[in-house]
Amino acid sequence: MIFADLHVHVGESLDGKAVKITASKNLTLPNIIEVARDIKGLSLIGLVDAHSTGVQHDFKTLISSGHLRPLSAGGYAANGLTLIPGHEIELQVGEGNAHFVAYFPSIETMNQYVRTLRPTTKNWQLSTQKGHIPIDQWLDVVEQAGGVWFPAHAFTPHKGIYGNCCRRMKDVLSVLPKALEIGLSADRTMAACIKELDPMVLFSNSDAHSLANIAREYNTIAQIDPSFGGLMDLIQGNNKQVVRNYGLPPKVGKYHRTYCLSCEKVVQTQPPQLVCPDCGSKHVIMGVLDRLISIADRPMGKQDTSYVHQVPLRQLPGVGPKMYERLLKAFGTEMAVLHHVDLDDLESVAGEKIARLILIARAGKLTVEAGGGGIFGRVVDILSAPEE
Ligand SMILES: [Zn+2]
Ligand SMILES: [Zn+2]
Repeated sequence: MIFADLHVHVGESLDGKAVKITASKNLTLPNIIEVARDIKGLSLIGLVDAHSTGVQHDFKTLISSGHLRPLSAGGYAANGLTLIPGHEIELQVGEGNAHFVAYFPSIETMNQYVRTLRPTTKNWQLSTQKGHIPIDQWLDVVEQAGGVWFPAHAFTPHKGIYGNCCRRMKDVLSVLPKALEIGLSADRTMAACIKELDPMVLFSNSDAHSLANIAREYNTIAQIDPSFGGLMDLIQGNNKQVVRNYGLPPKVGKYHRTYCLSCEKVVQTQPPQLVCPDCGSKHVIMGVLDRLISIADRPMGKQDTSYVHQVPLRQLPGVGPKMYERLLKAFGTEMAVLHHVDLDDLESVAGEKIARLILIARAGKLTVEAGGGGIFGRVVDILSAPEE
């Protein structure tokens, strides 16, 4: 079983030029490798800015210095971590714009894809630029370069295909994707309300803009070769049952519920709320839950157990910088702490309360308050609450 986060951005290339302007400057290729492998404990990451001129140069530098080794099945090995070159692009779909991610076996094939697309996009150094190309043509270019694709953060009001462009993908796409990124503020139980998603492989990824946020959402994948070929087989083979998602409880997501811009608050009444229930204003930021329920073609069922609600270690109440350091020093990586270390060992390092909280997080049973309108929800401090 491996831990995979397929949506990681790059803040800056090693020549000092910005790649993702809103991301942190220390989010460089070498730092991403170190943090993803040695601190988070991931084994597979997708770099969605590998199209960038500067990042391609960084790949070549790390390959010639021996820090990255090309894999025959595609992707690059970095001493226990596999990197897959990818690209996040914005495309017009129906009446709106949505983000898509595509992955390629190598920097050479990525380059072939970039050369074909070059005239359609203004700046090839920067992250997630708009591609002025019909989506069908883009899909052809991805296929010709041997790539694989899926919609990114599909339900978010900001550039998500369901949040922004359509009620059904079949109405706006000539081929349906074989996979989909759920995105923050939603989970599998919510995604299950849309029937056309039934055959798809569902991923949860971090969309990290900082080193700390790598693996804030991730997947465990059983029976996969950690390579581009392995990812391709998983997606093309609709091998959906081997993927489990570890994601923020949807309520923690910053767009979970509708937010009224006049009252400046998150609505609390029964979803869907498409206008403010208090003042009647249509001037709202639509909540992911509200949108999803308004477009659903079946009611929300019971919790899907292959989606585990988990928050990153540092977001657990009581896990400050010192406690975090202590846990990593004792057990190696976040994944080890979150998945493997048993209660007795956790207790001996972190004390009884935090050890219990980590086990509650491991089981996906945290209590949270809802976010909306760009404000994150939060884990309610249960440490002082009576025991169950
Ligand atoms: Zn995006
Ligand atoms: Zn992104």
